[in-house]
Amino acid sequence: MSRAWLIGAGPGDVELMTLKATRALGEADVVLVDDLVNPDVLQFARKDAQIVYVGKRGGQPSTSQAGIVNAMLAHLRAGRSVARLKGGDPFVFGRGGEEQQALAAAGIRVEIINGITAGIAAPATIGIPVTHRDHAQGVVFVTGHGAGSSEPDWHALVATRMTLIIYMGMRRLSEIATALLAAGMPGDTPCAAIESATRPEQRHVRATLDTLASGVAAAGLGSPAIVVIGGVATLGETPIAGGDTV
Ligand code: SAH
Repeated sequence: MSRAWLIGAGPGDVELMTLKATRALGEADVVLVDDLVNPDVLQFARKDAQIVYVGKRGGQPSTSQAGIVNAMLAHLRAGRSVARLKGGDPFVFGRGGEEQQALAAAGIRVEIINGITAGIAAPATIGIPVTHRDHAQGVVFVTGHGAGSSEPDWHALVATRMTLIIYMGMRRLSEIATALLAAGMPGDTPCAAIESATRPEQRHVRATLDTLASGVAAAGLGSPAIVVIGGVATLGETPIAGGDTV
């Protein structure tokens, strides 16, 4: 019987993929690969597997969500096992939940294989733990992508005093920093932005909330990047200096 998997490929470093993910990938007849997946992980796919890129990078138009689900259904109905490979964890901002729902509506049960999410892996690469008893009692994963009505309630988030981990926030970094300051977060709150974490081209900037946007702009950091905001960002290998790049 054909099987369907939603697999997290982790943040980039191939060694951060789980054993379960590599095993399932090796069983698939068809692999649908998302943006942000390090192509090196395809070494675990079968040599004769059909590899389909559905991401929007590399100049190709992205396949719509419905198009991806329809392709999965067509392969499954033809008796082929399908692995849907996503960056990080498939259930953290990866629209994995939506794909699971769409497949369930078509009567298909998909197996979920977790991956290490960039929001935890990226800070760890520079020694930043997302929680620490002296700094934060918890952590909030939030998307910076939204605008208008889907804008997070920054006031409420600041009030939690927890570490904020922002995904997809680079394009709107300056607006986000302004919103956090307006919500009462101190300008000297430690921050870090980590681009292309766990990959050879990784870079990062450490700053304060006041200097974050200018520091990131000066260093030319872009997507994909994780932004960490909160006391934990003082920890790790390099001390804070407004806009210090490594
Ligand atoms: N499912 C993924 C997140 C997908 S949303 C996960 O669990 O990691 C895409 C966002 O993830 C990017 O905009 C960026 O904020 C973050 N991201 C993914 N890979 C990254 C990496 N290697 N380094 C830094 N940020 C990354």
